[in-house]
Amino acid sequence: MIKEILVEKLITEDSKRARTTQVNVGPSEIGGCQRRLWYRLNAVKPTNTGTSRLAAIMGTSIHTAIEVAFSGDENYLTEVELTHNGLTGHVDLLDVQGKTIWDWKTITKAGSGFFGNEGQIAQLQVYGWLANNCGYEITTLGLVGIPRDGNENDIIEVTCAYDEDKALAYLARLENVKTSFAIPEPEKEQSFCKRFCEFYGTCDGLPENTQQEITNDEVIQLLVQYKSLQEQSKKVGQELDFLKEALKGTTGVTPQGISIKWSQLAGRQSVDEEAVQKLLGYVPKKQGNGYERLTIK
Ligand code: SF4
Repeated sequence: MIKEILVEKLITEDSKRARTTQVNVGPSEIGGCQRRLWYRLNAVKPTNTGTSRLAAIMGTSIHTAIEVAFSGDENYLTEVELTHNGLTGHVDLLDVQGKTIWDWKTITKAGSGFFGNEGQIAQLQVYGWLANNCGYEITTLGLVGIPRDGNENDIIEVTCAYDEDKALAYLARLENVKTSFAIPEPEKEQSFCKRFCEFYGTCDGLPENTQQEITNDEVIQLLVQYKSLQEQSKKVGQELDFLKEALKGTTGVTPQGISIKWSQLAGRQSVDEEAVQKLLGYVPKKQGNGYERLTIK
């Protein structure tokens, strides 16, 4: 099917990019799961190659389009590589006159309420530290959220002041993980790890506990998105049922070429288990492959 070919081609192309082949840990990873960071710092071989990558690939494409749009504008520097004390970061946009660093993030509208989480701020503070140590003067840090499912009016931005103490605290956290012989405890739940962590398998993640309070911003964001889509899907289903009912008995073609006709189809056939039981004395059955059921209320 073309969708499998499409995904394979996107992933192959994405794997060639500098960002996704980087072996050094970058500022973007400092605020995430500390166990994952430890694995990355210790070059542990990934065990989960089936992680969801489409959102990241779409994000990379949007970054490329923005970089092209800003190129040639002398007020801004794009994709600035900054290295200091062995740490390298890639800043999306550096406004030299405005002393501001901007980072583009692709988001969804439903998840916009959680935009500007601690991990994202940690990344920005470290970018600020890198820039200020690489000859730039940065006082402001900014995140711009570009919804994949929205339009220009849905773009949001969040800014905060550069704070060297905060940046140094995040860097100390990185150093802690780097020099630790002990592997940090898992921080994310299995449902997240399976989809998004390349070390799932080596690490089992946190067991699912439906009574436990969920505080992980990324998991909360996914849940909010899911519920929003679930509600939209239910509403669409109800509207389709209403329209179907209202269109009963109508046939023909509209001036736009939309045609409508009704036909009678036979019901789905199924084995008469009672008759088989009478004939054979038992009903032969085979067990299909199991699947995961998701319940979100
Ligand atoms: S599997 Fe989950 S808990 Fe373990 S390192 Fe990855 S994200 Fe962290």
